[in-house]
Amino acid sequence: MIFISEDKKQRADGRAYNELRPIKIEVGVLERVDGSAYVEVGGNKILASVYGPKETYMKRFLRPDTGVIKVKYNMAPFSVDSRKRPGPDRRSNEISKITADALRPALLLESFPRSMVEVYIEVIAAEGGTRCAGVTAAAVALADAGVPMKDIVAGCAAGKMDDQIVLDLSEVEDKEGQADVPVVIMPRTGEITLLQTDGNLTDEEFEEAINLAIEGCMEVSKVQKEALKNHYVQNLEG
Ligand code: UDP
Repeated sequence: MIFISEDKKQRADGRAYNELRPIKIEVGVLERVDGSAYVEVGGNKILASVYGPKETYMKRFLRPDTGVIKVKYNMAPFSVDSRKRPGPDRRSNEISKITADALRPALLLESFPRSMVEVYIEVIAAEGGTRCAGVTAAAVALADAGVPMKDIVAGCAAGKMDDQIVLDLSEVEDKEGQADVPVVIMPRTGEITLLQTDGNLTDEEFEEAINLAIEGCMEVSKVQKEALKNHYVQNLEG
């Protein structure tokens, strides 16, 4: 573990180096799906919905011995400053794939052979860190759908801005910063299910960024669990 001194610069948006943006999670926000969640992280607004596990029309993807997960991440044209061209592109295909990879280790796939879980992530507003917030939302939606899982994964990035390792990059920090390290973990075991790096970091900085991102994931995990608890307690009472 690397010691992080308290002698740190305040960030442009007033946050401390190890401070997350405000985070809000709502569970079961959509009627017509098996599970759903709405997540805000700073200016990010993200909806995740889940169908299944069930046999689908996509028979060629099904496997006799295990369940499968398919993820579609989409960034709405109106989610960013300059209108984004609608439809899939290289970036969204990559994020769909790494999101499935980040969620899969937490799923008890062997408990639903010949079945598929479909996850749809819609970014309604983007402000940096949508892949991590998307995974966070998807994990809660999977729990809401009652998909058998051994853990609820949580995502958060760290990175480097103004020569300082910081938590949960904003869009400005993402674009103007020196590095971005998105991380997803299974909080119960600490196992990392997604680790990406973009930019330049020394070995020490890389380790510091991973450790900081893991701390961020643990905070995100608390908010996920609180949201699920509140939703189900309300439903039991109501
Ligand atoms: N972004 C954008 N237009 C795009 C893609 C991304 O304005 O077509 C912005 C958006 O705010 C996003 C940020 O750039 O959150 C960083 O994008 P990146 O590809 O690093 O993924 P993310 O950090 O969202 O996981």
